[in-house]
Amino acid sequence: MNKILITGGAGFLGSHLTEKLLKEGNDVLVVDNYFTGSKVNLAHLLPNPNLELMRHDVTFPLYVETNQIYNLACPASPVHYQYDPVQTTKTSVHGAINMLGLAKRTRARILQASTSEVYGDPEVHPQPEEYWGRVNPIGIRSCYDEGKRCAETLFFDYNRQHNLDIKVVRIFNTYGPRMHPYDGRVVSNFIVQALQGKDITIYGDGQQTRSFCYVDDLIDAMVKMMNSEQGFTGPVNIGNPGEFTMLQLAETVLKLSGSKSKIIYQPLPSDDPKQRQPNIELAKAKLGWQPKVNLEDGLKETIAYFKKVVG
Ligand code: NAD
Ligand code: UDP
Ligand code: UDP
Repeated sequence: MNKILITGGAGFLGSHLTEKLLKEGNDVLVVDNYFTGSKVNLAHLLPNPNLELMRHDVTFPLYVETNQIYNLACPASPVHYQYDPVQTTKTSVHGAINMLGLAKRTRARILQASTSEVYGDPEVHPQPEEYWGRVNPIGIRSCYDEGKRCAETLFFDYNRQHNLDIKVVRIFNTYGPRMHPYDGRVVSNFIVQALQGKDITIYGDGQQTRSFCYVDDLIDAMVKMMNSEQGFTGPVNIGNPGEFTMLQLAETVLKLSGSKSKIIYQPLPSDDPKQRQPNIELAKAKLGWQPKVNLEDGLKETIAYFKKVVG
């Protein structure tokens, strides 16, 4: 039986990952400081004796025994990661150092949840893993983007210098049940606004694009990557190549929720990427993976969840 550590396991993606790994019969230790995550996300799993929760901030050292580490701790929505930007960078950088130190001592395999934000506002479209990105080092998104880039650097240096068994996934925008209803991400914002009859807030002209992956597909790929062949480190893109403008997303949410909300336009935050779409050829070839859930089906599940939470 694997003894698996998940940092950030009480968050949106972490709670789905915890559920899947418990279902597969593993022993799971969730470490989380509950900044954006919540024990409520894991409440249905608590009766399982193979699950253990620990309140801990990954910027501090952690001494536990484990043979696999999924490092997900880090707020993911711009509103939350910009709330305390210094802490965001510390979480990515000090958190990575501590978890890599832990992996080095225990000789555990370690996976980093990196992000499409390492590509910044990309000039290459769609983005392949070889693209180095276009990131502003001093803007309001930098605490997150540069923190994640530095974490990737640390992973590859621990791999080269200490021969650590690393895996790096670059996650593109992912949505689904258990997203925080008020964390400011576009899918949760639009659905909550639609269900509450409030105005749908499009930032900018709504022509910027994102590619949205349903959470079940994403978690499937993450676990496949963790269990991929020895020596395949990535980075590997994980996402759904279906690309939509924010206006298309708003219209789809309105249609599927049957809402009468009206669309309003608000200023675009600085450094907001104009386009984003993953090239997933590497994931297809190395992991035998591709997403199965299209946007409308995934949104239906997500709307049903938010109806229970805020409807
Ligand atoms: P989330 O905010 O729901 O989850 C993050 C979790 O980390 C929360 O439970 C939070 O309490 C915890 N956390 C934050 N700082 C911590 C710290 N210092 N110590 C311990 N725990 C801490 O976000 P999510 O969407 O579940 O994202 C999970 C991971 O995936 C993040 O690393 C994020 O950067 C990455 N990611 C997510 C997406 C996406 O679209 N959801 C896209 C790219 C990358
Ligand atoms: N670390 C940890 N848990 C462990 C081992 C190490 O949190 O089980 C932390 C440790 O505090 C250190 C960091 O990981 O700051 C990096 O460890 P490493 O062994 O690479 O570096 P060193 O201790 O030599 O600075
Ligand atoms: N966005 C929007 N309205 C909202 C929230 C976000 O139009 O209420 C836009 C945002 O400006 C960005 C896109 O939707 O262009 C995706 O934003 P999100 O914060 O979800 O993810 P990220 O920008 O980190 O990809």
